[in-house]
Amino acid sequence: MAEKVIPLADHRYAASVPRVPSMISAPVGLLGDTLGRPLRDLRISVTDRCNFRCGYCMPKEVFDKHYSFLPHSSLLSFEEIVRAARLFVAHGVRKIRLTGGEPLLRKNIEILIAMLSALRTPDGEPLDLTLTTNGSLLERKAQALKDAGLNRITVSLDALDDAIFRRMNDADFPVAEVLAGIAAAQATGLGPIKVNMVVKHGTNDDQIVPMARHFKGSGAVLRFIEYMDVGATNGWRMDEVLASAQVVARVNEALPIEPVAANLLGETAERWRYKDGSGEIGVISSVTKAFCGDCNRARLSTEGKLFLCLFANQGHDLRALLRGSYSDAQIAAAIALIWQGREDRYSELRASSAAPSGERRIEMHYIGG
Ligand code: SAM
Ligand code: SF4
Ligand code: SF4
Repeated sequence: MAEKVIPLADHRYAASVPRVPSMISAPVGLLGDTLGRPLRDLRISVTDRCNFRCGYCMPKEVFDKHYSFLPHSSLLSFEEIVRAARLFVAHGVRKIRLTGGEPLLRKNIEILIAMLSALRTPDGEPLDLTLTTNGSLLERKAQALKDAGLNRITVSLDALDDAIFRRMNDADFPVAEVLAGIAAAQATGLGPIKVNMVVKHGTNDDQIVPMARHFKGSGAVLRFIEYMDVGATNGWRMDEVLASAQVVARVNEALPIEPVAANLLGETAERWRYKDGSGEIGVISSVTKAFCGDCNRARLSTEGKLFLCLFANQGHDLRALLRGSYSDAQIAAAIALIWQGREDRYSELRASSAAPSGERRIEMHYIGG
């Protein structure tokens, strides 16, 4: 008898169905977790697919033609995403970032953006609506994204040198097209644009100064990200991390900079400005300087699982509630219970080497950055 094959995709990461409390109180726009951290920022992954194969995120050997991505029926629909987002906003979320996989591969993404941009905070304010993209489709889509109501955009770009960039994206994609995407986004007013560069020691660290030089004075803010031990497929090693302190030293030597005070609680980047007044850069030190203390971010996966930390190995299956016979009030109450029980602070624990093992950790392309 032929064996029955159960597709793995739907059961990729452990998730429990959230408990719906019997006593329900309406959201008040502020939720604290066990460490008193509010819920302010929601990152929504709209696809687990990508046209790049960056080695630190979706290494080609793992994400090849045999890899089973999520079936379409698993994905949250736009209506489900917006319903969930509305409940998070009622609990105090002010910023929504769309991510992936590559979010611009999700069909009709601008329709979702238009739906989300109509949401309002409990004070009647519009949300800060943003998106992170690899930039490959940006030149074509920038205007439609802006017209749909997107406020800002972050473009990931790991090198200026074409050969290094093609190697990093492992899809032979030329850097010129991403630069054209950034220019198109700037021309539509989707700014200030952030450009994120993941620095891998020995792979692209010689691009730090050329990247800084290129974006200095351009209006775009370049941010250097420490290569992180997310997921379980990228073969992460500490000796491939270049500490932000060293990145800052290298930039400062070529183009003098000075620190700027952080402007928002929960902001991940440490900011530096050029002494000649021609703009700023940021460094995100997820490995060498844990910033869990004010982490106010929740992440909703492509298939509707809620994760409370980038390094979580257990999600909360919100889709089960969204597709069940629960009212908005019940789902909002379930979300409140989840956040109020949150204790995650992986990066701090990593620093003290008490972090949980990485075996079943979520992958970045599934949960977004
Ligand atoms: N595909 C889009 C992109 O690349 O911008 C959005 C999704 S991607 C997972 C979001 C961000 O995560 C990107 O800026 C990427 O560079 C970053 N990222 C992925 N894996 C990483 C890792 N191991 N360490 C640090 N950043 C990582
Ligand atoms: Fe794709 Fe972004 Fe991951 Fe690179 S970092 S493989 S572009 S999802
Ligand atoms: Fe937030 Fe988890 Fe990152 Fe700490 S490790 S900053 S809790 S996502």
